[in-house]
Amino acid sequence: MTRMMKKSTIAIDTKLPRKDAFGAIAMPVYHTASYEFETAKDMADAFCGRVLAPDYSRVMNPTVMHFEDQVKALTGAENVFAFCSGMAAITNAFFTVIETGKNVVTSHHLFGNTVALLNKTFARFGVESRQVDLLNLEAVRQAIDDQTSCLFWEIVTNPQMEVADIAALAEIAHERGIPLIADTTIIPFTQFSAKALGVDVEVVSSTKYISGGATSLGGLVIDYGTFPVVNQRIRFELLFNVGSYMSPHAAYMQSLGLETLEARYKVQSSNALALARKLQTVEGIQRVNYIGLEDNPFHTLSLKQFGETAGAMLTIDLADRKACFSFIDHLKLIRRATNLFDNKTLAIHPYSTIFGPFGKSQKVEMDVRDTTIRLSIGLEDVDDIFEDIRQAVAAIP
Ligand SMILES: *Cc1c(COP(=O)(O)O)cnc(C)c1O
Repeated sequence: MTRMMKKSTIAIDTKLPRKDAFGAIAMPVYHTASYEFETAKDMADAFCGRVLAPDYSRVMNPTVMHFEDQVKALTGAENVFAFCSGMAAITNAFFTVIETGKNVVTSHHLFGNTVALLNKTFARFGVESRQVDLLNLEAVRQAIDDQTSCLFWEIVTNPQMEVADIAALAEIAHERGIPLIADTTIIPFTQFSAKALGVDVEVVSSTKYISGGATSLGGLVIDYGTFPVVNQRIRFELLFNVGSYMSPHAAYMQSLGLETLEARYKVQSSNALALARKLQTVEGIQRVNYIGLEDNPFHTLSLKQFGETAGAMLTIDLADRKACFSFIDHLKLIRRATNLFDNKTLAIHPYSTIFGPFGKSQKVEMDVRDTTIRLSIGLEDVDDIFEDIRQAVAAIP
């Protein structure tokens, strides 16, 4: 019996799609739009998909293929497709199942641009989005009808930090013969198996944990092969017609990021847990929301699904918006920036930024509060991060 290698090894050991002519140890960046063939027959075979060889970098590129192969080896997926952003990956995943007259059943706690994609962009093409409470499984069941194309969930919502019961949602989807598409950006696929929990298609913003240093944008569609239409449409239709494939340069940086993902994730998660515990004792901080805290309502489910580590995102609540702005303005080490899971610790007031374009009542429905600061905890020494937060809270007038 061959022993299964651990994920940190697989990320580093994935072989290049072909042996490099010079024995390069890092995957070279194939910055080329097109590829030359020896014969007309080779050319015809590649163009018609009889041989897996790149012919044009809108649909295939060796550097991107290597990144996709790493993800495939780590997740056990049938097919992995890399796109130029998380939103491009999400859009392409939806394009495989939606059509005019169909609907998507999802939560009202979603990444802001995903909400707008469904409610604005797709709505214009006659695709309805049904947003329900993801914690109410009966409401999810009730919202599905014969025109439902898929269930779509984020496994941990941001910034509310609700954890979805993935296996229960997968069961509901499969009772009705529709796929469960899950946005797993918040907990990386090195930590848990979405496939084992019943997810049919995983979408990930690889801009976040995978790139690590905020070097590049990227997105992944990870297809477990349970709904063959997903592979068929992306591979033979959408890559060609939509044109949002990842660039070779981004794939190079994200592939490097993937090699160190597990090591970074461990440190960032343990920093986040230590901070969450300590921040609960700071006067002026009214609430600390982190699914790794034992008394968090989602802690048990998080442990069961994702294991001991709970990621690097946490939120704190301060008295009001003025206190939040003052806190952010007083930060000295922590960066005032959006993005998640950068190596650097980042702070943002989601209400006035990411959710700025949404109306007040929409923000109430989404449970996005004017008092909340979102922190993404980085790789700095945890005492230095704590001290910066402590002094910025103390400086609030
Ligand atoms: C950032 C993010 C996205 C969008 O990804 P981009 O790479 O910024 O396009 C989608 N979903 C979640 C949960 C995210 O955090």
